Amino acid sequence: MAHINCSFCGRRKNEVLLLLSGLDAHICNYCIEEGHQVVLQEMKPQRNEPKEVNIKLVKPIEMKRHLDGYVIGQDEAKKALTVAVYNHYKRLMQPKSAEGITIEKSNIIMVGETGTGKTYLAKTIAKILEVPFCVADATVITEAGYVGEDVETILTRLLQAADYDVDAAERGIVYIDEIDKIARKSDNPSITRDVSGEGVQQALLKLLEGSTVNVPPQGGRKHPDQRLISINTENILFICGGAFDGIERHIAKRINTRPIGFSGERRLHEISEKSFLMRYVSALDLKSFGLIPELIGRLPVLTHLEPLDRKALLQILTEPKNALAKQYDKLFEMEGIKLHWASDVLDFIVDQALTYNLGARGLRAICESIILDAMYELPSQPGVKEFTVSLDYAQQKFGESTFQGMLRLAA
Ligand code: ADP
Repeated sequence: MAHINCSFCGRRKNEVLLLLSGLDAHICNYCIEEGHQVVLQEMKPQRNEPKEVNIKLVKPIEMKRHLDGYVIGQDEAKKALTVAVYNHYKRLMQPKSAEGITIEKSNIIMVGETGTGKTYLAKTIAKILEVPFCVADATVITEAGYVGEDVETILTRLLQAADYDVDAAERGIVYIDEIDKIARKSDNPSITRDVSGEGVQQALLKLLEGSTVNVPPQGGRKHPDQRLISINTENILFICGGAFDGIERHIAKRINTRPIGFSGERRLHEISEKSFLMRYVSALDLKSFGLIPELIGRLPVLTHLEPLDRKALLQILTEPKNALAKQYDKLFEMEGIKLHWASDVLDFIVDQALTYNLGARGLRAICESIILDAMYELPSQPGVKEFTVSLDYAQQKFGESTFQGMLRLAA
């Protein structure tokens, strides 16, 4: 008997999982899948035709009010972000203008020390707007051909966050962290090829520019037989963030003031001078720092975050809707235990966070090291109805666990 083959690829019946028969032809599961992709691809222009875009448009002042419930301070960044985000989604909901006015996308770049709330702001905005959100680390991205992640995997993550709903992903928000770490090491563009810097910036540019990118749905490296999903990045909002350590020197130089950091100066003085200079950060300083002009051009909204001072850290600990102290209260309440924090304990926690200079990020590790033993022991002691974290207790527990605490802080 003659072998039955797929009429499209020629594979034999025993080489495929499924072979469907038509009048005069057969088709295997591989060709069906490939054909399906072609159909999706061809239908795409129709899919993108103006249709009702279902986004919860929240006005800037209202959005800021929402944000205030979670993120402490950072008013200037909140203002810049809420306006940019509002305009972005307004642009998306706008039918193509008859006068030919196209509103350009306002991707955002945030400059601010680690642990000041950059990621948290982006994430909270996505939550308020109920759009898919993902965080990507610029340092793991490499230009094609090098070991590391392809830039497309950023979109894989967004697609996964959108439960593979391509339409939703195409309106999502991507936060790209540590954008400063891919800066060109030298301001001289003629320097020999810089794998970790300029090449990666070029790769990112492809996403920010608004293009159609073929994305491997499961992530990883692209390979020839892989099914790819095409995603248009035109309406995806990219928010980038980085600490840009030392950028204040570029700002000082540009605005012609004395560079900071002379030895012998008090650290407090340095900090206040730095935060003063940071208010003047501009696109020119990003360029001097080593971002390529094309990339800066695609990130037209630039804002900065203030370092968190003692008052802000204390507020973060107790005030936001899901403040750390409230989270521990809740955990203990579920055991039937009322948790009390002595007020000087909160000061102590903030002191330690300032010592390690990790912004709000240190608060959790410090709290954890203080309260771990209680969380371990108390659930097995049914009689306990109240527990007070006194200063003595906190100092003792933190002291005992400094080593682990520090490891966690450094992680
Ligand atoms: P960054 O991205 O600037 O390095 P994150 O946004 O990741 O810092 O902050 C780490 C954590 O610290 C957040 O998840 C949040 O719990 C807390 N945090 C940081 N900044 C703030 C802030 N301004 N208000 C409230 N919580 C904050």
